[in-house]
Amino acid sequence: MTNNHSFTGKVALVMGASRGIGAATALAFAAAGADVALGARDDRQLAEVAEQIKATGGRALPIHLDVTDPESVRHCVAATVGEFGRLDAAVNNATGGGHPPTPLTEVTVEDFTSAFEVNTLGVFLGMKYQIPAMLSGAGGAIVNVSSSAGLQGVGGLTGYATAKHAVIGLSRVAALDYAGQGIRVNIVAPGPILTDNLRRAGERGQHAATQAIPQGRVGAVDEVADAIVWLCSAEAGFITGATLPIDGGKLAGVQPFTRVLPPQRA
Ligand code: NAP
Repeated sequence: MTNNHSFTGKVALVMGASRGIGAATALAFAAAGADVALGARDDRQLAEVAEQIKATGGRALPIHLDVTDPESVRHCVAATVGEFGRLDAAVNNATGGGHPPTPLTEVTVEDFTSAFEVNTLGVFLGMKYQIPAMLSGAGGAIVNVSSSAGLQGVGGLTGYATAKHAVIGLSRVAALDYAGQGIRVNIVAPGPILTDNLRRAGERGQHAATQAIPQGRVGAVDEVADAIVWLCSAEAGFITGATLPIDGGKLAGVQPFTRVLPPQRA
């Protein structure tokens, strides 16, 4: 994790921070000097991330959180402000629910709804409580984590792709509603990033994911975390309502039909 954006004296809250991109983002905020509140359901993993922050001299507050429960989200934001006195940056990163690749007509209503509850309702609830906390302070910045599946269809992923498209619309509305009050809201849209899900896909799955990436590799969690911290920093002060793909060029377009480019590095 390397970034030079100073968050000293500032407070960041990461929802969905017990592992993967969320944990890396919490660590990146701490490395940039922020006090960090971390929310998720797995208290043991959350405590481990908090301990990593404390081991480097940072301040961390793990909070049990279910992003689909309004009272849990309200409590998470209140606990953050109660402990650290303010909220400057918030990241809505949790993902879950949904279904494995399935043709649309075979997707159950329950699976479709569960993808929405975590990925979309969770982001709505996050902002519903984070924004008032920021407004009562010095303003702030929010980053919502969508996906390249929020900008293009992915066959079989009705629940996830729909929910991630909705995250972008939701975030744009929030950006407009609060642009005049010192709140910025942006979106990151990662492509394949090496976390537990892709690890579980094994070497073959990772190789297949790599084939779709012009840069010829999958991404690392720190590459997403550092972009999120930058979007929350003063250096990104004129950016709001924007969606940033972090995908090795996947969403840039398609490669030529005949190979005219130099071979890619591994
Ligand atoms: P991950 O490893 O599955 O981690 C998901 C996080 O969300 C965990 O901390 C999990 O914690 C938390 N979470 C799940 N349900 C929750 C709930 N109801 N309430 C609170 N927290 C909850 O995911 P990831 O791969 O790091 O992905 C992070 C984000 O990037 C997601 O929004 C994902 O859609 C997006 N993304 C990832 C990739 C990729 O290739 N990795 C690609 C595109 C987009 P608990 O289980 O402890 O609650």
